[in-house]
Amino acid sequence: MSETIDVNGIDMRIRAMDERVQALHDRDMYFYNIPVSELKGSAEVVVDGRTMLMLASYGYLGLLGHPRINDNAAAALRQYGTGTHGVRLLAGTLQLHLELERTIADFKQTEDAVTFSSGYVTNLAAISTLVGRHDMVFCDKYDHASIVDGCLLSGADLKRFRHNDMEHLEMLLQRHADSVTKLVIVDAVFSMDGDIIDLPRTVELCRKYDACLMVDEAHSVGVLGKTGRGVEEHFGIQGSVDVKMGTLSKTIPSVGGYIAGSRGLINLMKHAARGFIFSAAIPPAQAAAAKTAFDVILDEPDRIGRVQRNAAQFIRGLRSAGFDTMQSETAIVPVLCGTDEKAYELVRLCQKENIFVLPVVSPAVPDGMARLRATVTAGHTDEQIEHAVSVLEKAGKLVGLI
Ligand SMILES: *Cc1c(COP(=O)(O)O)cnc(C)c1O
Repeated sequence: MSETIDVNGIDMRIRAMDERVQALHDRDMYFYNIPVSELKGSAEVVVDGRTMLMLASYGYLGLLGHPRINDNAAAALRQYGTGTHGVRLLAGTLQLHLELERTIADFKQTEDAVTFSSGYVTNLAAISTLVGRHDMVFCDKYDHASIVDGCLLSGADLKRFRHNDMEHLEMLLQRHADSVTKLVIVDAVFSMDGDIIDLPRTVELCRKYDACLMVDEAHSVGVLGKTGRGVEEHFGIQGSVDVKMGTLSKTIPSVGGYIAGSRGLINLMKHAARGFIFSAAIPPAQAAAAKTAFDVILDEPDRIGRVQRNAAQFIRGLRSAGFDTMQSETAIVPVLCGTDEKAYELVRLCQKENIFVLPVVSPAVPDGMARLRATVTAGHTDEQIEHAVSVLEKAGKLVGLI
Protein backbone atom coordinates (compact mmCIF):
# COMPACT_ATOMS: atom_id res chain seq x y z
CA MET A 1 0.00 0.00 0.00
CA SER A 2 1.15 3.53 -0.68
CA GLU A 3 1.98 6.02 2.06
CA THR A 4 -0.79 8.31 0.97
CA ILE A 5 -3.92 6.51 2.15
CA ASP A 6 -5.92 8.99 4.12
CA VAL A 7 -9.55 8.10 3.79
CA ASN A 8 -11.78 8.40 6.78
CA GLY A 9 -10.36 6.32 9.60
CA ILE A 10 -8.32 3.82 7.61
CA ASP A 11 -5.04 5.67 7.89
CA MET A 12 -5.54 6.05 11.62
CA ARG A 13 -6.29 2.35 11.98
CA ILE A 14 -3.15 1.40 10.12
CA ARG A 15 -1.03 3.72 12.20
CA ALA A 16 -2.57 2.65 15.51
CA MET A 17 -1.81 -1.01 14.78
CA ASP A 18 1.71 -0.18 13.62
CA GLU A 19 2.34 1.58 16.91
CA ARG A 20 0.87 -1.23 18.99
CA VAL A 21 2.92 -3.91 17.25
CA GLN A 22 6.10 -1.81 17.28
CA ALA A 23 5.71 -1.15 21.03
CA LEU A 24 5.63 -4.92 21.66
CA HIS A 25 8.67 -5.48 19.42
CA ASP A 26 10.56 -2.74 21.29
CA ARG A 27 10.07 -4.59 24.56
CA ASP A 28 10.87 -8.00 23.07
CA MET A 29 7.30 -9.06 23.72
CA TYR A 30 5.94 -9.70 20.25
CA PHE A 31 5.06 -13.39 20.02
CA TYR A 32 2.84 -13.63 16.96
CA ASN A 33 3.44 -14.99 13.47
CA ILE A 34 6.61 -16.80 14.56
CA PRO A 35 8.01 -18.68 11.55
CA VAL A 36 8.80 -22.33 12.26
CA SER A 37 11.53 -23.71 9.98
CA GLU A 38 11.40 -27.40 10.82
CA LEU A 39 9.27 -29.99 12.60
CA LYS A 40 11.09 -32.54 14.72
CA GLY A 41 8.66 -35.34 15.42
CA SER A 42 5.27 -34.19 16.60
CA ALA A 43 6.38 -32.32 19.74
CA GLU A 44 9.36 -30.21 18.73
CA VAL A 45 9.86 -27.37 16.27
CA VAL A 46 12.86 -25.39 15.13
CA VAL A 47 12.62 -21.59 15.34
CA ASP A 48 15.58 -19.41 14.42
CA GLY A 49 17.86 -22.42 14.65
CA ARG A 50 16.65 -23.29 18.16
CA THR A 51 14.77 -26.51 18.91
CA MET A 52 11.71 -25.73 21.00
CA LEU A 53 9.22 -27.93 22.80
CA MET A 54 5.88 -27.28 21.10
CA LEU A 55 3.10 -26.52 23.58
CA ALA A 56 0.87 -24.48 21.32
CA SER A 57 -0.20 -26.95 18.65
CA TYR A 58 -3.74 -28.25 18.11
CA GLY A 59 -2.41 -31.51 16.70
CA TYR A 60 -3.93 -33.31 19.67
CA LEU A 61 -3.22 -36.84 18.49
CA GLY A 62 0.24 -36.13 17.09
CA LEU A 63 -0.84 -37.12 13.58
CA LEU A 64 1.12 -34.51 11.61
CA GLY A 65 3.65 -36.32 9.43
CA HIS A 66 2.09 -39.76 10.03
CA PRO A 67 3.51 -41.94 7.21
CA ARG A 68 0.16 -43.35 6.09
CA ILE A 69 -1.41 -39.88 5.98
CA ASN A 70 1.55 -38.43 4.07
CA ASP A 71 1.58 -41.35 1.61
CA ASN A 72 -2.10 -41.03 0.78
CA ALA A 73 -1.82 -37.26 0.44
CA ALA A 74 1.13 -37.68 -1.94
CA ALA A 75 -0.76 -40.30 -3.97
CA ALA A 76 -3.75 -37.95 -4.33
CA LEU A 77 -1.46 -35.14 -5.39
CA ARG A 78 0.05 -37.32 -8.11
CA GLN A 79 -3.32 -38.57 -9.26
CA TYR A 80 -5.29 -35.32 -9.28
CA GLY A 81 -2.77 -32.47 -9.09
CA THR A 82 -2.83 -29.58 -6.66
CA GLY A 83 -6.31 -28.13 -6.95
CA THR A 84 -9.84 -28.74 -8.15
CA HIS A 85 -10.38 -25.68 -10.33
CA GLY A 86 -13.58 -24.74 -8.75
CA VAL A 87 -16.50 -25.09 -6.48
CA ARG A 88 -18.00 -28.40 -5.44
CA LEU A 89 -21.43 -27.72 -6.89
CA LEU A 90 -20.07 -27.29 -10.41
CA ALA A 91 -16.81 -28.96 -11.47
CA GLY A 92 -14.92 -29.24 -8.18
CA THR A 93 -16.23 -32.47 -6.65
CA LEU A 94 -13.90 -35.46 -6.70
CA GLN A 95 -14.69 -39.00 -5.68
CA LEU A 96 -12.23 -38.26 -2.88
CA HIS A 97 -14.50 -35.60 -1.38
CA LEU A 98 -17.39 -38.04 -1.24
CA GLU A 99 -15.17 -40.66 0.38
CA LEU A 100 -14.02 -38.11 2.96
CA GLU A 101 -17.60 -37.10 3.70
CA ARG A 102 -18.70 -40.73 4.03
CA THR A 103 -15.82 -41.30 6.45
CA ILE A 104 -16.77 -38.26 8.54
CA ALA A 105 -20.44 -39.28 8.64
CA ASP A 106 -19.47 -42.76 9.83
CA PHE A 107 -17.08 -41.37 12.43
CA LYS A 108 -19.68 -38.95 13.75
CA GLN A 109 -22.41 -41.59 13.44
CA THR A 110 -24.66 -39.45 11.27
CA GLU A 111 -26.45 -40.06 7.98
CA ASP A 112 -24.28 -37.71 5.97
CA ALA A 113 -21.65 -34.98 6.06
CA VAL A 114 -20.40 -32.10 3.92
CA THR A 115 -17.00 -30.39 3.86
CA PHE A 116 -16.05 -26.75 3.41
CA SER A 117 -12.72 -25.06 2.70
CA SER A 118 -12.06 -24.15 6.36
CA GLY A 119 -13.62 -24.44 9.79
CA TYR A 120 -14.18 -20.71 9.85
CA VAL A 121 -16.05 -20.84 6.55
CA THR A 122 -18.03 -23.83 7.81
CA ASN A 123 -19.49 -21.87 10.71
CA LEU A 124 -20.22 -18.83 8.56
CA ALA A 125 -21.85 -20.92 5.85
CA ALA A 126 -23.79 -23.30 8.07
CA ILE A 127 -25.20 -20.77 10.52
CA SER A 128 -26.24 -18.31 7.82
CA THR A 129 -28.01 -21.16 6.02
CA LEU A 130 -29.84 -22.42 9.10
CA VAL A 131 -31.14 -19.09 10.38
CA GLY A 132 -31.96 -15.65 9.01
CA ARG A 133 -33.74 -12.46 9.93
CA HIS A 134 -36.54 -12.89 12.47
CA ASP A 135 -35.01 -16.14 13.76
CA MET A 136 -33.38 -16.52 17.18
CA VAL A 137 -29.89 -17.81 17.84
CA PHE A 138 -28.47 -18.45 21.31
CA CYS A 139 -24.70 -18.67 21.89
CA ASP A 140 -22.44 -19.23 24.85
CA LYS A 141 -20.50 -16.05 25.61
CA TYR A 142 -17.22 -17.90 25.01
CA ASP A 143 -18.19 -19.42 21.66
CA HIS A 144 -15.53 -19.17 18.95
CA ALA A 145 -15.30 -16.00 16.85
CA SER A 146 -16.37 -17.88 13.71
CA ILE A 147 -19.68 -18.74 15.39
CA VAL A 148 -20.28 -15.12 16.35
CA ASP A 149 -19.40 -14.01 12.82
CA GLY A 150 -21.76 -16.63 11.36
CA CYS A 151 -24.58 -15.32 13.54
CA LEU A 152 -23.90 -11.73 12.53
CA LEU A 153 -23.82 -12.71 8.86
CA SER A 154 -27.12 -14.57 9.20
CA GLY A 155 -28.97 -11.51 10.43
CA ALA A 156 -30.72 -13.58 13.11
CA ASP A 157 -31.40 -12.08 16.52
CA LEU A 158 -28.36 -13.15 18.58
CA LYS A 159 -28.63 -13.69 22.34
CA ARG A 160 -25.53 -14.67 24.29
CA PHE A 161 -25.78 -16.53 27.58
CA ARG A 162 -23.21 -16.45 30.37
CA HIS A 163 -20.50 -19.04 29.93
CA ASN A 164 -21.83 -22.57 30.49
CA ASP A 165 -24.67 -21.07 32.55
CA MET A 166 -27.67 -23.28 31.84
CA GLU A 167 -30.03 -21.23 33.97
CA HIS A 168 -29.25 -18.20 31.89
CA LEU A 169 -29.77 -20.19 28.68
CA GLU A 170 -33.13 -21.40 29.95
CA MET A 171 -34.15 -17.88 30.89
CA LEU A 172 -33.40 -16.67 27.35
CA LEU A 173 -35.14 -19.65 25.72
CA GLN A 174 -38.18 -19.09 27.90
CA ARG A 175 -38.29 -15.41 27.06
CA HIS A 176 -38.30 -16.20 23.34
CA ALA A 177 -40.40 -19.36 23.54
CA ASP A 178 -42.92 -18.07 21.01
CA SER A 179 -40.30 -17.49 18.35
CA VAL A 180 -40.69 -20.17 15.66
CA THR A 181 -37.08 -20.82 14.71
CA LYS A 182 -34.52 -21.21 17.48
CA LEU A 183 -30.92 -22.37 17.15
CA VAL A 184 -28.56 -22.96 20.08
CA ILE A 185 -24.82 -23.03 19.25
CA VAL A 186 -22.07 -24.03 21.66
CA ASP A 187 -18.43 -25.11 21.57
CA ALA A 188 -17.92 -28.65 22.88
CA VAL A 189 -14.57 -27.66 24.40
CA PHE A 190 -13.99 -23.94 24.81
CA SER A 191 -10.90 -22.83 22.96
CA MET A 192 -9.59 -20.32 25.50
CA ASP A 193 -10.48 -22.13 28.74
CA GLY A 194 -10.34 -25.83 27.86
CA ASP A 195 -13.53 -26.60 29.78
CA ILE A 196 -16.42 -28.73 28.46
CA ILE A 197 -19.99 -27.63 27.72
CA ASP A 198 -22.70 -29.05 29.96
CA LEU A 199 -24.07 -31.00 27.01
CA PRO A 200 -26.67 -33.14 28.81
CA ARG A 201 -28.39 -30.03 30.17
CA THR A 202 -28.04 -28.14 26.88
CA VAL A 203 -29.72 -31.03 25.05
CA GLU A 204 -32.50 -31.16 27.61
CA LEU A 205 -33.19 -27.45 27.25
CA CYS A 206 -33.17 -27.60 23.45
CA ARG A 207 -35.75 -30.39 23.55
CA LYS A 208 -37.88 -28.61 26.13
CA TYR A 209 -37.98 -25.36 24.15
CA ASP A 210 -37.97 -26.94 20.71
CA ALA A 211 -34.63 -25.48 19.65
CA CYS A 212 -32.16 -26.96 17.15
CA LEU A 213 -28.71 -27.70 18.64
CA MET A 214 -25.41 -27.10 16.86
CA VAL A 215 -22.08 -28.02 18.49
CA ASP A 216 -18.61 -26.95 17.34
CA GLU A 217 -16.25 -29.87 17.97
CA ALA A 218 -12.98 -28.22 16.90
CA HIS A 219 -11.24 -29.12 20.16
CA SER A 220 -13.15 -32.25 21.15
CA VAL A 221 -12.75 -34.63 18.22
CA GLY A 222 -9.85 -36.94 19.01
CA VAL A 223 -9.72 -35.58 22.56
CA LEU A 224 -13.04 -36.48 24.21
CA GLY A 225 -14.66 -39.89 24.43
CA LYS A 226 -13.15 -43.33 24.58
CA THR A 227 -12.77 -43.57 20.80
CA GLY A 228 -12.21 -39.83 20.26
CA ARG A 229 -15.59 -39.27 18.67
CA GLY A 230 -16.14 -36.17 20.78
CA VAL A 231 -18.45 -34.62 23.30
CA GLU A 232 -21.49 -36.85 22.84
CA GLU A 233 -19.38 -39.93 23.45
CA HIS A 234 -17.82 -38.20 26.47
CA PHE A 235 -21.24 -37.83 28.09
CA GLY A 236 -22.64 -41.06 26.70
CA ILE A 237 -25.43 -39.34 24.81
CA GLN A 238 -24.74 -40.19 21.18
CA GLY A 239 -27.18 -38.84 18.66
CA SER A 240 -28.32 -35.86 20.72
CA VAL A 241 -26.79 -33.07 18.62
CA ASP A 242 -28.59 -31.99 15.44
CA VAL A 243 -25.75 -30.15 13.70
CA LYS A 244 -22.23 -31.44 14.36
CA MET A 245 -19.55 -29.04 13.19
CA GLY A 246 -15.83 -29.71 13.16
CA THR A 247 -12.56 -28.67 11.58
CA LEU A 248 -10.01 -30.67 9.61
CA SER A 249 -7.12 -28.49 10.82
CA LYS A 250 -6.64 -29.50 14.44
CA THR A 251 -6.68 -33.15 15.46
CA ILE A 252 -7.00 -33.87 11.73
CA PRO A 253 -3.73 -32.65 10.15
CA SER A 254 -5.19 -31.03 7.05
CA VAL A 255 -7.37 -28.03 6.33
CA GLY A 256 -11.12 -27.65 5.91
CA GLY A 257 -14.25 -27.98 8.00
CA TYR A 258 -17.36 -30.12 8.06
CA ILE A 259 -20.98 -30.39 9.08
CA ALA A 260 -22.33 -33.84 9.93
CA GLY A 261 -26.01 -34.55 10.46
CA SER A 262 -29.16 -35.82 8.84
CA ARG A 263 -29.40 -36.49 5.11
CA GLY A 264 -31.79 -33.54 4.73
CA LEU A 265 -29.53 -31.15 6.62
CA ILE A 266 -26.56 -32.00 4.41
CA ASN A 267 -28.68 -31.72 1.29
CA LEU A 268 -29.68 -28.23 2.41
CA MET A 269 -26.02 -27.28 2.97
CA LYS A 270 -24.94 -28.58 -0.43
CA HIS A 271 -27.54 -26.51 -2.27
CA ALA A 272 -27.98 -23.39 -0.14
CA ALA A 273 -24.83 -22.68 1.88
CA ARG A 274 -23.03 -19.81 0.16
CA GLY A 275 -19.67 -20.81 1.66
CA PHE A 276 -20.07 -24.15 -0.11
CA ILE A 277 -21.48 -22.90 -3.38
CA PHE A 278 -19.17 -19.94 -3.89
CA SER A 279 -15.81 -21.19 -2.61
CA ALA A 280 -13.43 -23.78 -4.03
CA ALA A 281 -13.28 -27.37 -2.85
CA ILE A 282 -10.65 -28.77 -0.48
CA PRO A 283 -7.55 -29.68 -2.59
CA PRO A 284 -7.08 -33.40 -3.35
CA ALA A 285 -4.03 -33.97 -1.14
CA GLN A 286 -5.73 -32.32 1.83
CA ALA A 287 -8.92 -34.31 1.31
CA ALA A 288 -6.93 -37.57 1.17
CA ALA A 289 -4.95 -36.58 4.27
CA ALA A 290 -8.12 -35.81 6.19
CA LYS A 291 -9.81 -39.05 5.20
CA THR A 292 -6.77 -41.11 6.15
CA ALA A 293 -6.46 -39.31 9.50
CA PHE A 294 -9.94 -40.48 10.52
CA ASP A 295 -8.94 -44.03 9.55
CA VAL A 296 -5.75 -43.75 11.61
CA ILE A 297 -7.70 -42.55 14.67
CA LEU A 298 -9.80 -45.73 14.51
CA ASP A 299 -6.81 -47.99 13.80
CA GLU A 300 -4.55 -46.51 16.50
CA PRO A 301 -6.92 -45.92 19.42
CA ASP A 302 -4.07 -45.70 21.96
CA ARG A 303 -3.44 -42.13 20.90
CA ILE A 304 -6.69 -40.99 22.53
CA GLY A 305 -5.85 -42.38 25.96
CA ARG A 306 -2.40 -40.86 25.55
CA VAL A 307 -3.57 -37.27 25.00
CA GLN A 308 -6.07 -37.61 27.85
CA ARG A 309 -3.36 -38.88 30.23
CA ASN A 310 -0.92 -36.20 29.09
CA ALA A 311 -3.48 -33.46 29.69
CA ALA A 312 -4.23 -34.81 33.16
CA GLN A 313 -0.51 -35.00 34.01
CA PHE A 314 0.09 -31.45 32.81
CA ILE A 315 -2.87 -29.97 34.68
CA ARG A 316 -1.99 -31.87 37.85
CA GLY A 317 1.63 -30.64 37.67
CA LEU A 318 0.67 -27.01 37.15
CA ARG A 319 -1.93 -27.07 39.91
CA SER A 320 0.44 -28.56 42.42
CA ALA A 321 2.96 -25.85 41.49
CA GLY A 322 0.28 -23.37 42.52
CA PHE A 323 -0.98 -22.17 39.13
CA ASP A 324 -4.63 -21.44 38.37
CA THR A 325 -5.55 -23.57 35.34
CA MET A 326 -9.19 -22.49 35.55
CA GLN A 327 -11.81 -25.15 34.73
CA SER A 328 -9.74 -26.98 32.14
CA GLU A 329 -10.14 -30.74 31.92
CA THR A 330 -8.89 -31.13 28.36
CA ALA A 331 -5.73 -30.70 26.30
CA ILE A 332 -6.16 -26.92 26.27
CA VAL A 333 -4.63 -25.66 29.48
CA PRO A 334 -4.83 -21.99 30.43
CA VAL A 335 -2.39 -20.63 33.00
CA LEU A 336 -4.12 -17.59 34.42
CA CYS A 337 -1.89 -14.52 34.68
CA GLY A 338 -4.34 -11.64 35.18
CA THR A 339 -2.78 -8.65 33.43
CA ASP A 340 -1.58 -8.70 29.84
CA GLU A 341 1.85 -7.67 31.14
CA LYS A 342 2.19 -10.73 33.35
CA ALA A 343 1.10 -13.04 30.52
CA TYR A 344 3.68 -11.52 28.15
CA GLU A 345 6.38 -11.76 30.81
CA LEU A 346 5.63 -15.41 31.59
CA VAL A 347 5.64 -16.32 27.91
CA ARG A 348 8.91 -14.47 27.32
CA LEU A 349 10.62 -16.39 30.12
CA CYS A 350 9.27 -19.74 28.86
CA GLN A 351 10.34 -19.01 25.29
CA LYS A 352 13.82 -18.13 26.52
CA GLU A 353 13.91 -21.68 27.88
CA ASN A 354 12.81 -23.02 24.48
CA ILE A 355 9.22 -23.76 25.40
CA PHE A 356 6.92 -22.70 22.56
CA VAL A 357 3.86 -21.26 24.33
CA LEU A 358 1.75 -18.22 23.57
CA PRO A 359 -0.14 -15.56 25.48
CA VAL A 360 -3.84 -14.83 25.12
CA VAL A 361 -4.74 -11.29 26.08
CA SER A 362 -7.72 -8.96 25.76
CA PRO A 363 -9.82 -8.62 23.69
CA ALA A 364 -9.57 -12.39 22.99
CA VAL A 365 -10.32 -12.95 26.69
CA PRO A 366 -11.97 -10.63 29.23
CA ASP A 367 -9.81 -7.86 30.74
CA GLY A 368 -7.86 -9.10 33.75
CA MET A 369 -8.09 -12.71 32.53
CA ALA A 370 -4.95 -12.70 30.37
CA ARG A 371 -3.22 -16.02 30.33
CA LEU A 372 -0.61 -18.23 28.87
CA ARG A 373 -2.43 -20.98 27.00
CA ALA A 374 -0.66 -24.27 26.53
CA THR A 375 -1.81 -27.37 24.68
CA VAL A 376 -0.59 -30.90 25.11
CA THR A 377 -0.84 -33.69 22.56
CA ALA A 378 -0.44 -37.43 22.32
CA GLY A 379 2.98 -36.69 20.82
CA HIS A 380 4.45 -35.47 24.14
CA THR A 381 6.38 -37.80 26.43
CA ASP A 382 6.01 -37.81 30.22
CA GLU A 383 9.48 -36.27 30.47
CA GLN A 384 8.62 -33.42 28.11
CA ILE A 385 5.54 -32.56 30.13
CA GLU A 386 7.46 -32.74 33.37
CA HIS A 387 10.13 -30.45 31.90
CA ALA A 388 7.49 -27.96 30.72
CA VAL A 389 5.93 -27.86 34.19
CA SER A 390 9.30 -27.20 35.81
CA VAL A 391 10.16 -24.38 33.39
CA LEU A 392 6.74 -22.84 33.98
CA GLU A 393 7.15 -23.16 37.72
CA LYS A 394 10.49 -21.36 37.65
CA ALA A 395 9.11 -18.62 35.38
CA GLY A 396 5.92 -18.30 37.44
CA LYS A 397 7.97 -17.61 40.55
CA LEU A 398 10.07 -14.97 38.77
CA VAL A 399 6.93 -13.20 37.56
CA GLY A 400 5.38 -13.44 41.01
CA LEU A 401 2.42 -15.57 39.99
CA ILE A 402 3.08 -18.42 42.39
C1 LIG B 1 -10.12 -23.28 15.03
C2 LIG B 1 -11.56 -23.17 15.28
C3 LIG B 1 -12.45 -22.93 14.22
C4 LIG B 1 -11.98 -22.61 12.83
O1 LIG B 1 -11.40 -23.67 12.20
P1 LIG B 1 -10.34 -23.47 11.01
O2 LIG B 1 -10.34 -24.78 10.35
O3 LIG B 1 -9.04 -23.10 11.64
O4 LIG B 1 -10.85 -22.37 10.13
C5 LIG B 1 -13.80 -22.96 14.51
N1 LIG B 1 -14.25 -23.17 15.77
C6 LIG B 1 -13.41 -23.37 16.80
C7 LIG B 1 -13.97 -23.60 18.17
C8 LIG B 1 -12.04 -23.36 16.59
O5 LIG B 1 -11.21 -23.52 17.62
